Amino acid sequence: MSIARRALKRQKKIADWESRVEALHQKYPRLGEISRLFTQMSLEIAMLGMGKGKMGMSKEELLQAQEALLAERKLLMKKHNLPGNIYEIWWDCPQCQDTGFVGIGEKCACLLEEEQEERRLFSGLTPHQQEQTFKTFTLDWYEDKDRYRAILQQCIEFAEKVCAGEKTENLFLCGTIGTGKTHLCSAIANYVLQAGRRVVYLKIGTILDLIREYKFNFEKNETIKPHQLKDLYQVDLLIIDDLGTEVSTDFVREQLFYLFDERISYCLPWVISTNLMPNEIGTIYEDRLSDRILGTSRVLKFSGTSVRQLKAMQANKIDQKESVS
Ligand SMILES: [Zn+2]
Repeated sequence: MSIARRALKRQKKIADWESRVEALHQKYPRLGEISRLFTQMSLEIAMLGMGKGKMGMSKEELLQAQEALLAERKLLMKKHNLPGNIYEIWWDCPQCQDTGFVGIGEKCACLLEEEQEERRLFSGLTPHQQEQTFKTFTLDWYEDKDRYRAILQQCIEFAEKVCAGEKTENLFLCGTIGTGKTHLCSAIANYVLQAGRRVVYLKIGTILDLIREYKFNFEKNETIKPHQLKDLYQVDLLIIDDLGTEVSTDFVREQLFYLFDERISYCLPWVISTNLMPNEIGTIYEDRLSDRILGTSRVLKFSGTSVRQLKAMQANKIDQKESVS
């Protein structure tokens, strides 16, 4: 939530509090009287400090009278079963009174949590992908465990470098469907998000739709959402899923070249996940584009039986066993 929206929300909380107290005083006039007397006495104490008292009471007498008023109010509230915090503003976060800050420039835990949630939403990760982490990536399904252990390690090292803002090679995850590429891409995204950095994870088709929408509307001079396009170029980490499934036109190749080129010039990393092998990239895309893709990347090859199929087969076996027993 922006600072402006927070300010609006705070105003609303204060207005709610005022009308709640007003309604309370209408229903229980003595409570209203107590409040007014209490305020008058506070003012009188301030005036006494300036030598301008009007009520003919000493400061001690006034403080005593105030204490008596508070005690009476407490009794009345108890008698009418009113909640103890009815005179307080009901902030969502009492720590920062919903301002988002606890000191000068120091963010409150509620704001940090909110920003993390915004980054998660912004990333485009599905709830299922948000569960896919390095910890939940298991080698049990793979025959060639050493190779996949090494792949996992390289993904972790990549994610750590991105978190630290260090220069790194990009990653090119390629191979058969269902062999764990998506899980590792999500794990990298979640790791980087956790460190407070921004990630965009999109399928190539969605990326191209965004670019098309932007260009088309830009030419028509209509309202555009440039931040979305800018984010593709400038987000801390861009993860592109399913590269190679797009319909390749001059426009698409041009835009992809521009995208990779921009990110290279900002020294910003990306991860590509694709069913295409590196040699196929060379045949689909022209040299200057395949150079941008492969020349900057570490290639991690996935192969073997689909983990997804293996999991489904095992689930079936369990189902069968359960239906037999
Ligand atoms: Zn807070």
